[in-house]
Amino acid sequence: MKLVLGHLYGDLLNLYADRGNIIALQQRCAWRGVDLEVRQIGIGEAVRPDALDLLFMGGGQDGDQRLMADDLFRLKADALRGALVDGLPMLAVCGGYQLFGEYYQPAEGPPLPGLGLFDLHTVHPGPRVRRCIGNVVVEWLTAGTVDQSHVSSRESHVSAAETGPGARLVTRAPAPAPLGRGATPPVRRTTLVGFENHGGRTYLGPGARPLGRVISGHGNNARDGTEGAVVHQAYGTYLHGSLLPKNPHLADHLLTLALRRRHPGATLAPLDDTAEWRAHEAIVKRYGRRGAVRRAA
Ligand code: GLN
Repeated sequence: MKLVLGHLYGDLLNLYADRGNIIALQQRCAWRGVDLEVRQIGIGEAVRPDALDLLFMGGGQDGDQRLMADDLFRLKADALRGALVDGLPMLAVCGGYQLFGEYYQPAEGPPLPGLGLFDLHTVHPGPRVRRCIGNVVVEWLTAGTVDQSHVSSRESHVSAAETGPGARLVTRAPAPAPLGRGATPPVRRTTLVGFENHGGRTYLGPGARPLGRVISGHGNNARDGTEGAVVHQAYGTYLHGSLLPKNPHLADHLLTLALRRRHPGATLAPLDDTAEWRAHEAIVKRYGRRGAVRRAA
């Protein structure tokens, strides 16, 4: 069983260990006997969504965003818009998230056009205004829900071969005990934890659901208590960290979405996430006090 992840601008956009998200996905796949191949998609290269199961784009500073925004808009926008409607699972962090919206107005200079995948826009109020920096704890509002609105358009693409026995391979894989750890307790958690550092303030339109509600930290704009956005199977967030190692439920959610596009009904074998949840809980304990929404400006 194999999955392919497209990594957009991996050489330019990799703040606060964003690449760790891919390492986490690869390792969680490997523990289950699934090979996750990573394909770098850089400047000048086209996106071929049909060959992908997942897409990731990390964060970058204004200068790095300016280097690739034009390429993103000219060379990749059409393919990515089609991929969104087709239900390709995507994760975009911070600078990548901002460019998934309609536009990003950086601290200085002209605005950068966005992909328009998300109904949102982002404005940096200027270099003298305080940045949104710190640990974040979020209530994941869409936890456990899967947007199905793309399914009817996708159905015609799923061939009989794709619903074959490979799907059960993953379901049947025995739960490994990596690093000699014990059995997995069933956990259902709805918090997400991460680290944010952004000047841009993001404002959602009616076409974008927030990914979460800020318990502590700044989130989208330090004012309305929203964090990130979800449209179809695409997820945008300000959470670096990197995000997925400390949020195994989100990592597995993305992997499940990717698997089910090829193998409807497939489920992932559980893993022993004791260490991952300990890291998650440490942040929740320290920063997860309700009502601790900070205001940067
Ligand atoms: N350049 C953007 C900002 O400061 C994004 C930064 C980031 O990706 N961490 O708002």
